[in-house]
Amino acid sequence: MDVPFSSLHTHSLYCDGSDTIETLCSAAFQKGLRAIGFSSHAPLLSKRAKTLPQTQWHMRPERIGAYLADIHDARKRWAGKLNIYAGLEVDYIKDIAGPADFTGHRTLTQNALHYIIASVHYLVPQHGEPFTVDGSNEEFEKGVRSGYNGSIEDAVNAYWDAEEALIAEGGFEILGHVDLIKKNNAREKYFSSGSAWYINRITRLAGIIAAAGITVEVNTGGLNRGKTTELYPSPLFLTLLKQRNVPVIITSDAHCADHLDGYYPQAAAAVRAAGYPEGAGSPVASVLPRQ
Ligand SMILES: [Zn+2]
Ligand SMILES: [Zn+2]
Repeated sequence: MDVPFSSLHTHSLYCDGSDTIETLCSAAFQKGLRAIGFSSHAPLLSKRAKTLPQTQWHMRPERIGAYLADIHDARKRWAGKLNIYAGLEVDYIKDIAGPADFTGHRTLTQNALHYIIASVHYLVPQHGEPFTVDGSNEEFEKGVRSGYNGSIEDAVNAYWDAEEALIAEGGFEILGHVDLIKKNNAREKYFSSGSAWYINRITRLAGIIAAAGITVEVNTGGLNRGKTTELYPSPLFLTLLKQRNVPVIITSDAHCADHLDGYYPQAAAAVRAAGYPEGAGSPVASVLPRQ
């Protein structure tokens, strides 16, 4: 596919990644990427976020200034050689956190933020503790048991509800790993992605995404880390997006320099198989959709 590759979904030492900004820029350049964008797990800023169990994977709030300064210094160093962007991967956690925490706090980032990837990692049951859908099988099962009376269908529907609520709220450029809910569902352990109720929900979501005019990432992170056997989104989901002309961007969700372009040939093949055209005017982006 004639699309220059980039990775706008990249984690560094500022959150749960294992490399520095400079090491990642250097690797991106060596791999011939057209752009690299940094998207640390954003700090959880609201008071309500204090009700969540402590995490190690989010950036600490006091680090955001240093993070942005580090990226902007790299932009100067690499000017003319590599496009570098400053982003954040912001959690949408129903009634607790979301992109609005940042669009409402532009002074916090001194307008140095180029884009936001918004992702749903957490389910927030009406009764019971919020939990992440991408943890271990045991944590996932415990969450479904205590939050959704053991109903996997209710939990999966709550995930799609959260995606819809996130899109309604807006305030971001790229939708992150849109079907992360399948991460624990290897070999269809908990639910069938071919069942009518599942297909109905992803079809409805594809329509909502198209109407909102946002870009969806084709994320190789699950493959990179050996957690899934397919991309986010699934081939069917990607086809539904293509049918609605939703723009996509291939990203690696890299947590280390080696993974910056991991499984990109497979991602390009999947995008092609879904029917996305190649060349100029294609809705497949390699740099920021809006600048
Ligand atoms: Zn994520
Ligand atoms: Zn990520």
